[in-house]
Amino acid sequence: MPIATISPVTGEVLKKFEPMTPDQVDAAIGRSAEAFRALRGTSFGQRAAWMRAAADLLEAEQDDVGALITREMGKPLRAAKAEVAKCATACRFYAEHAEEFLADEPADAEAVGAHRAYGRYQPLGPVLAVMPWNFPLWQAMRFAAPALMAGNTGLLKHASNVPQTALYMGELFERAGFSAGAFQTLLIGSDAVEQVLTDPRVRAATLTGSEPAGRAVAAIAGRELKKTVLELGGSDPFVVLPSADLDRAAQVATTARCQNNGQSCIAAKRFIVHTDVYDEFVEKFTARMSELTVGDPMADGTDIGPLATEQGRDDVAAQVADAVDKGAAVRCGGRRGEGGGWWYPPTVVTDLTPRMRMYAEEVFGPVAGVYRVSSYEEAVALANATPFGLGSNAWTTDPHERRRLVDDLEAGAVFIDGMVASYPQLPFGGVKNSGYGRELSAAGIREFCNLKTVWIG
Ligand code: NDP
Repeated sequence: MPIATISPVTGEVLKKFEPMTPDQVDAAIGRSAEAFRALRGTSFGQRAAWMRAAADLLEAEQDDVGALITREMGKPLRAAKAEVAKCATACRFYAEHAEEFLADEPADAEAVGAHRAYGRYQPLGPVLAVMPWNFPLWQAMRFAAPALMAGNTGLLKHASNVPQTALYMGELFERAGFSAGAFQTLLIGSDAVEQVLTDPRVRAATLTGSEPAGRAVAAIAGRELKKTVLELGGSDPFVVLPSADLDRAAQVATTARCQNNGQSCIAAKRFIVHTDVYDEFVEKFTARMSELTVGDPMADGTDIGPLATEQGRDDVAAQVADAVDKGAAVRCGGRRGEGGGWWYPPTVVTDLTPRMRMYAEEVFGPVAGVYRVSSYEEAVALANATPFGLGSNAWTTDPHERRRLVDDLEAGAVFIDGMVASYPQLPFGGVKNSGYGRELSAAGIREFCNLKTVWIG
């Protein structure tokens, strides 16, 4: 895959980059290790001041960075700007809370025969971050802000189709006051990840992306005995039970499926609807999906831009074609867009069966699969019948069902009468093939720390 900005709107190559050589990568790892030795000795207060400066820069540059993101991966400009603002919020959140999240954890000293005993969080060192293009600033920031506040340094290997956003990230923290080596972008292809991860100076890795990419990085890290956090794909259920507010559920379902042009790991992808409300929900949902405006992502009023890559668009088109060939019904959309660029319209597909690819695979585009079930038990069984377990949404006003859903859904997150989203305040991550480890909240900053046992007699 070339390292290049290719317009998803036209397919035109806008800017190409040469990958770094192995020697350049080696030098960057050296700078990262050196920066770590200095950073670990700085105070939380100092790092927080730099992190707040990074937030200030993001806010001041929100319009330009938003436009850059839209040019590289095609999401509507409004959403790209919101992504930049969210990154600033995460910087401020960890600037404010890192010290409290990483405070010493006192233990019962007497019980262990000590004068004092406690756990102390210490940073691990340079951490490799392999990141995807779908939220190119946010995915990387979700790692960078806690990692730097903990005193780790970061090496970002970003997706090859968002090199300019990657370079912006690589410069941001230095401009905010961190030393030059504290957070660097490595312009490398995925074939160069092994060199970085096998380097003894690199202590851990985090990856957000597809299952195969996660398996590849985890396999190398496993051989090297290095800690990993993996945030992989999802095929989140959106369960609608008879007592649900159907208007609201249909409205949120549309946003939950089509956010980010349908390319979000936590997008709702499988809509599991009780038969008592199935027809009404499908009608309302299809009407809303059909109303979305597809077009130039830079234009005001656009809801859906093109998909980020040609391959991504072709994959989605092939999954829908496979379902249709095997008997599924298309309620709206279902035909790839014409002309240059990688367009795919909002699509609702019903009558899915296990023989169809869509039934088990993640669909990374604005395509909703709707399933009919006849009981709570059937709804939960279908929601859990997936190799993934990232997020889950469920709609019911019945208090008993709400309590059961929280326990019964096999996922890293459950949102009742709402849409799965990531917040700095809440842990984020999955179970099953959606990966392991947690980002954000206190859990996220602790992932790349050594919780050192301290026993003083
Ligand atoms: P990938 O998982 O291939 O890419 C994500 C990141 O991993 C990129 O930086 C990529 O680098 C890198 N990478 C890929 N393969 C390897 C490897 N073998 N070793 C090391 N690093 C690797 O995502 P794609 O863009 O190809 O998307 C494919 C599918 O992945 C989507 O259709 C979707 O299902 C899922 N996906 C999920 C995301 C999520 O948020 N969970 C985000 C993006 C994709 P490079 O770009 O150089 O290949």
